[in-house]
Amino acid sequence: MIATVDSIGPGKPYAEVIGDPIAHSKSPLIHNFWLNALNIDATYRACHVPPNRLGEYIARRSGDPDWRGCNVTIPHKVSILDHVADPGGIRENIGAANAVFWHADSSLAATNTDAAGFFAPLADHDLTGKDVAVIGAGGAARAVLFALSRCDVASVAIYNRNIMKAGGLLAQFGLKGRALPLGARLPVATALLVNASALGMVGQDTLICDLSPLPTDALVYDLVYAPVETDLLAQAADRGLETIDGLEMLVGQAAVVFELFFGVAPPRIRDGELRKMLIDT
Ligand code: NAP
Repeated sequence: MIATVDSIGPGKPYAEVIGDPIAHSKSPLIHNFWLNALNIDATYRACHVPPNRLGEYIARRSGDPDWRGCNVTIPHKVSILDHVADPGGIRENIGAANAVFWHADSSLAATNTDAAGFFAPLADHDLTGKDVAVIGAGGAARAVLFALSRCDVASVAIYNRNIMKAGGLLAQFGLKGRALPLGARLPVATALLVNASALGMVGQDTLICDLSPLPTDALVYDLVYAPVETDLLAQAADRGLETIDGLEMLVGQAAVVFELFFGVAPPRIRDGELRKMLIDT
């Protein structure tokens, strides 16, 4: 059941994911899985919020003591920054928010947990001085580049249909590297290849990428999670390369938000069960 701006609260603490459209979001599945696992009497629901009602949504929910905050998706990721007291420096860095939560002083703040979610499965990999290749220059790529800009990587080769946009991102995040057209050859020293484009996602064009230049210890990370096993990851696995799928980031970014909403860390020990549920649903 999708809530609307006019919906009343469920009579217990709750958070929401807002967007237009919103029915496709996997966030309710993830957060309700954790709430159930922890026996917390709260809920998380999807709420349809059209662009012209975003201000009204925030005004209404801000007056509801049960509302813990919301995840924010298309088309509100930038416009939400005009509706919170603390936009969290997002305009200057990643450029888009994915969550709104209450600070301890009861002011409303925006944040973006995608960079933390992206980085979480890489925490055991030392990227210092390494060469990275990133495909895509949209919102997800910005979170990736923001995270990489804090990892002391040597260089980033960024591949995009619109090369100007890709070059602009390298400059914005202070990264050394090159902007290249899609399909250009991968650098031979690439330690990490990230697909942050929509290519390879259900309903989108296929990602054509020749992995043969990659060294045998390269890591291939696809942010696309529908499907979970993309052609890129299948190709990487065939070559014996280590892979990370998009569910890792999806669950990782949600874990940071869950703690902001409900004040406790989610039971990541149950990630296996959660992943199975997300794949089967
Ligand atoms: P976005 O802002 O719309 O950016 C889309 C990117 O894909 C741009 O670089 C765009 O190139 C490129 N692209 C799209 N269609 C293309 C085509 N037909 N040919 C060539 N390039 C194309 O989207 P986003 O928010 O960055 O999301 C990108 C992907 O990451 C999606 O699959 C999304 O589901 C996934 N994602 C995953 C997570 C996670 O937690 N796992 C989080 C966020 C996003 P141009 O710049 O040239 O237009």
